[in-house]
Amino acid sequence: MLRVHQLKLTLDEAALPQDAVLRRLLARYLKISESDVDSVKLQKKSVDARDKGDVHFSLTVDVTFKNGSLEKTIAARFRPNQAAVVEQTAQAPDLFAAEWNRWDDQQGRPLVVGAGPAGLFCALALARRGAKPLLIERGQPVEKRGAHVEIFEREGVLNEESNVLFGEGGAGAFSDGKLTCGLNSPHIQTVLRTFYACGAPEEILTAQRPHIGTDVLRKVLVNARMRLCELGGEVRFGCKLTGLILRDGAVAAARICQEGRTEEITVRKVYLAIGHSARDTFEWLYDLGVPMEQKPFAIGARIEHLQREIDRGQYGSAAGHSQLPPAEYKLNVPTPDGRGVYTFCMCPGGQVIGAVNQPGEINVNGMSFHARDGINADAALLVGVRPQDYGSDHPLAGVAFQRRIEQAAYRHCGGFRAPCQRVEDLLAGRETKALGQVQPTYRPGVTLGDLACCLPSFVLDAYRLALPQFGRRLKGFDAPDALLTGPETRSSSPVRFLRKPNRESAIAGLYPLGEGAGYAGGIVSAAVDGLCAGMEA
Ligand SMILES: Cc1cc2nc3c(=O)[nH]c(=O)nc-3n(C[C@H](O)[C@H](O)[C@H](O)COP(=O)(O)OP(=O)(O)OC[C@H]3O[C@@H](n4cnc5c(N)ncnc54)[C@H](O)[C@@H]3O)c2cc1C
Repeated sequence: MLRVHQLKLTLDEAALPQDAVLRRLLARYLKISESDVDSVKLQKKSVDARDKGDVHFSLTVDVTFKNGSLEKTIAARFRPNQAAVVEQTAQAPDLFAAEWNRWDDQQGRPLVVGAGPAGLFCALALARRGAKPLLIERGQPVEKRGAHVEIFEREGVLNEESNVLFGEGGAGAFSDGKLTCGLNSPHIQTVLRTFYACGAPEEILTAQRPHIGTDVLRKVLVNARMRLCELGGEVRFGCKLTGLILRDGAVAAARICQEGRTEEITVRKVYLAIGHSARDTFEWLYDLGVPMEQKPFAIGARIEHLQREIDRGQYGSAAGHSQLPPAEYKLNVPTPDGRGVYTFCMCPGGQVIGAVNQPGEINVNGMSFHARDGINADAALLVGVRPQDYGSDHPLAGVAFQRRIEQAAYRHCGGFRAPCQRVEDLLAGRETKALGQVQPTYRPGVTLGDLACCLPSFVLDAYRLALPQFGRRLKGFDAPDALLTGPETRSSSPVRFLRKPNRESAIAGLYPLGEGAGYAGGIVSAAVDGLCAGMEA
């Protein structure tokens, strides 16, 4: 099979039926006849907007020929980064089709805590091995959770156990559903294929920067839960892990609480995938002696622009073409103190969302629907923080640091209305009194003012340095009316649970997983961590 890279597809050609257009492009590029081509398969598709006068798609395509010997002849005419013969390997299977080691029943029934991506993939893997896992989730199923999030956004009334952070799907359920990740793992394909098997669109398998969107993700989660139950797993919602009973340094039982009723269950293996915001659980785990340490992370605010301005900045005159997706960006700049400023978790056509689980605190994040058709683009604008900033060497001092910022914002605003400042005002060091072109998307609403009410001065100084530089790289990024809504304090966990290479804590039978444990930074990396634990541990 020949793998052809950097195949150029114009924006107008992208509207044509895929198979026919790929055959035509390949024939032209490889200088062969279309009738020589046996099969074509799109591997990757990305937008190439480096030259604003020639925005197009760049494709990687696998092609086989009716005459097999053509592969080598053609490959000899190209550089390996343009076209190369590759082995036809079987595609990575989804989790339901993969081969699994049978679970050793002597280990008893495993308990998985948390139904975010880490817990869900761990439970699915265990179920495929025949372990009949019990998956407990303190929040509600995704169908009920939507109503609780809606009440928060409409009325500012928080459900502490069912919100954007807690409930089926974890922190990622009300997200943009970006499925990119920095890992280089063969299991990424299994995760993507499993999402696809549960109803995610096929394009996630080929897009350079795949995303699902919160609307589609919620349906995928329901299907995944059904598959888990079909495989013998059990899911209990509104069910919280409140204690572990240890014997000789190993897990012997777990205390779980559901609808006010506490139950002790005998269990030897507990997979702890509780995310970065289960602060109550962190505290009792620390008291129990579960080893953990401080971890650096990053804080800042969400920046919002009009999506059409970002499109113009990225695509030039091609902006608005029906085949082009809403434009994305990723920017970073070093700062003299080494912290750096960078954009993170960009949501094209998205909205800023409150991501809190406790009263008296404000933390924002971003989400979008599959169509990414909102008026604004948003992204976290983050500045690195380090354990020296936390003011104590207690392993949970990073949580206290986050809380101070979140509580200052809440106190200043007198509720969940988040502080918001125009970029021009931030650069001039003055309060915002009125909005301009960009309207904030955050609900239950914003309080105009100065982000100095909650964010440390090193963050604001770093912004003043970075914003003009970002504006030079992406026209309009530092536009006067762009908005900063904050604070965003939970970009990742401020804590890392210590674990052995097999993911087990020093407490035998306890496996801290995913983002809360400090080993993942997004949906896919958390899912891969959970999957590997369920497969191997
Ligand atoms: C609004 C938002 C948008 C995001 N957008 C993206 C994105 O587009 N792409 C991306 O890759 N990442 C995104 N992220 C980050 C991503 O969601 C997380 O990295 C990921 O969900 C972490 O997975 P996890 O399974 O480790 O933890 P979580 O998803 O946080 O799941 C932990 C679960 O454990 C449960 N739990 C906690 N304590 C207990 C207990 N004691 N008993 C029982 N259950 C418990 C919680 O209720 C929660 O459901 C976003 C996050 C947010 C908040």
